[in-house]
Amino acid sequence: MNTMPSQSKWSESIWGSGSHSCECQEQRHHPRLIVLTGGPSAGKTAVLEMILKTFCSHVTIIPEAASIIFGGGFFRRDSLPARKGAQRAIFKVQRELEQIVLEEKKAAVAICDRGTVDGLAYWPESEETYWAENGTTGEKELSRYEAVIHLRTPDLARGYNHDNPVRIESANEAMAIDQKLLSAWVSHPHRHLIESQDDFFTKARLAMEAVRTYLPTCCQNAKLNAKSGGKS
Ligand SMILES: [Zn+2]
Ligand SMILES: [Zn+2]
Repeated sequence: MNTMPSQSKWSESIWGSGSHSCECQEQRHHPRLIVLTGGPSAGKTAVLEMILKTFCSHVTIIPEAASIIFGGGFFRRDSLPARKGAQRAIFKVQRELEQIVLEEKKAAVAICDRGTVDGLAYWPESEETYWAENGTTGEKELSRYEAVIHLRTPDLARGYNHDNPVRIESANEAMAIDQKLLSAWVSHPHRHLIESQDDFFTKARLAMEAVRTYLPTCCQNAKLNAKSGGKS
């Protein structure tokens, strides 16, 4: 089965920090990396946009490395070398983006639009070779992240059109990727599985509540002021 997402998916990545200023007086934070993951059509983009609107400037979003790689023109080919090369490139970019945020210490919470473990779901060989070729281990990668928020892909009953064979095909593929992501992260001790709801707002609210629990008290108790904010 071809699990390469369509070209249009890689048009833009979402990044930035929460749009509210916060009266937290801390000069530095110890950034916690929180992964936001999920298969296609799970609503990740909408949730990221809501995070930017909801939280203070100490919550930052680390953009999806795959969007940067493929959106920037990296080979998108079906050959084995190309699929592996792309995943190794994504791994490296992801790692460097995280490292910058960890060293800057400005953010208290960094929401990773996917983490290094996500690559397992797209890796065409064994799990062992994924870790070995990226010079790491599964335990090391899982321990980089404080928590994983997994937005489940809607099943056929929710959000997909039964009458359209193409949609059913892509719905099955989407659910297969979601399942692979589920098993990639299965050993993480802090997973928040957010099932698809009849209305998207309930799903998004559950995701916001999960994010909020990882805010440090300095930011959790601080008064929020709506302000310019945005990309920083
Ligand atoms: Zn804050
Ligand atoms: Zn703070």
